[in-house]
Amino acid sequence: MQGIFNIIQRWIPLWNRETFFAGMSSTGRSESTNNFFNGWLPITTGLYSFVTKYEAVLIEVCEQKNAEDFASEHRYRQVGPHQALLKDATNIYTRTMFHKLQDQFDQVVRFVVIERRVEGNVRQLTVKAHSGRAESFELQIDLEKLTGNCGCKLFEYVGLPCCHPLKVFSKYDILKIPEAFIMIRWTIGANKFSRSYDESQLKGDNLRHALRHSHISLRASILFERASKMKESFDFAVLKLDELESYLQNYDDTLTQIDASQ
Ligand SMILES: [Zn+2]
Repeated sequence: MQGIFNIIQRWIPLWNRETFFAGMSSTGRSESTNNFFNGWLPITTGLYSFVTKYEAVLIEVCEQKNAEDFASEHRYRQVGPHQALLKDATNIYTRTMFHKLQDQFDQVVRFVVIERRVEGNVRQLTVKAHSGRAESFELQIDLEKLTGNCGCKLFEYVGLPCCHPLKVFSKYDILKIPEAFIMIRWTIGANKFSRSYDESQLKGDNLRHALRHSHISLRASILFERASKMKESFDFAVLKLDELESYLQNYDDTLTQIDASQ
């Protein structure tokens, strides 16, 4: 019992770990929003002035994020030649998230993996600390699909793979971080798909062409980014694009015929 109490910080957050919070507590989130505006907008700011300044702040934030992406891509990160997974991570994550992931990697050596059950490609495992704190998590991984989850829920909570599957990846010689364990939000360049409008603006019948264009471009970019990662999904996407193109062509043709008959 004392052992469980000693690791209280580790199990308390489990109660709401099914929800992605970017690893922040709710007060942390509103504090960061406060900081964000306090730096820019005095409390006396009028509505018109707020809107124009808000836009300026957003541009500034976007530029900061782009700078972070740039630093992530170009800054040299020292990784040993034997650390294949970590090397893969340098190509995936922004600098900040890479360092957070590195902390998880540093913990891998503390654990051992025990196979509890084997069902085809699926392994039910226990990852436990071999000394010190009584820490143990149950984990499932499909070695063919490379999907899985860990009982500690770090991935669901902050969007980063925890040290437990990282330990498992090295056990089964998985040398790249599987896609199911990568959250696009934290990847280099994720920011290029950021959105400047709200979903609710898309509901009306008289959408501006520019809004339709930005929304469909964004959806397509996210989809294509995903589809381009593997040959099978790439081929499938191209096939569906051909179908979509001929559907739209037929649709345009029908409209032209109706126009002509009027
Ligand atoms: Zn875990």
